[in-house]
Amino acid sequence: KLDLRGVVKRFGDNTVCDGIDLQVDTGDMVCLIGASGAGKSTLLRCINLLEPIEDGAIYLDGEDISVPGLDPQGVRARIGMVFQSYNLFPHMTALENAMLAPRRVLGRSRDDLRPEVEALFTRFGLADRMQNYPDQLSGGQQQRVAIVRALAMRPEVMLFDEITSALDPQLVGEVLDVLLMLKAEGMTMLLATHEMGFARQAADKVCFLKDGKIVEEGPPETLFGSPKHPDTQAFLARAL
Ligand code: ATP
Ligand code: MG
Repeated sequence: KLDLRGVVKRFGDNTVCDGIDLQVDTGDMVCLIGASGAGKSTLLRCINLLEPIEDGAIYLDGEDISVPGLDPQGVRARIGMVFQSYNLFPHMTALENAMLAPRRVLGRSRDDLRPEVEALFTRFGLADRMQNYPDQLSGGQQQRVAIVRALAMRPEVMLFDEITSALDPQLVGEVLDVLLMLKAEGMTMLLATHEMGFARQAADKVCFLKDGKIVEEGPPETLFGSPKHPDTQAFLARAL
């Protein structure tokens, strides 16, 4: 479970997260929507301790992970993150990519990891792609490898930042299907997305962000079906 209390993030005098309160309950999928520049990516980066916050607190299963001086590696081992650009290491096979962090960070051996990581590849339709290098894979396959790589750390929570935005339209579905599988398995997920149809279909909760604030949040039926705030209405009128 993730619990954000009054999170403030500034770049200079630009307040990008302006007192964000957000709960992601265990097993839930929460979608962040909002215009470009609203602060979605920055918020995800703060949760993963890629950006320090100015105020507020971030709790992971009750533990404050935003206290200064905490080892970010330890936190990142528990929170998986996948980006729009897959960021796979080009000189390593898909399998080597996925085994790297658990070997380096968790100190696990190749032999110990291999069956488990191979099972992840198989589960997400990549059984015959494990020995390929990233440039031998389609965008959708690379993105699924990036997800497998994050899952290989056995994270408690997964963060996804616009993971389908760089994909050709016909490849988007295969990546969204992975998210649906993870949801069915009970993974706790927070994602920034422009895929309104997906958010409406799959999210337990949708949060609309504007200028660093959560303007409105609720179950997708309510947020998409009968948004209350004029800013949400205006955004959805343009986005849908
Ligand atoms: P998009 O939908 O385009 O991905 P977003 O909601 O993810 O947008 P962010 O990338 O979080 O928005 O950006 C929010 C604001 O923070 C923007 O005004 C951006 O210019 C600013 N910003 C983000 N990263 C930095 C940085 N490293 N330094 C300074 N300003 C930044
Ligand atoms: Mg972004």
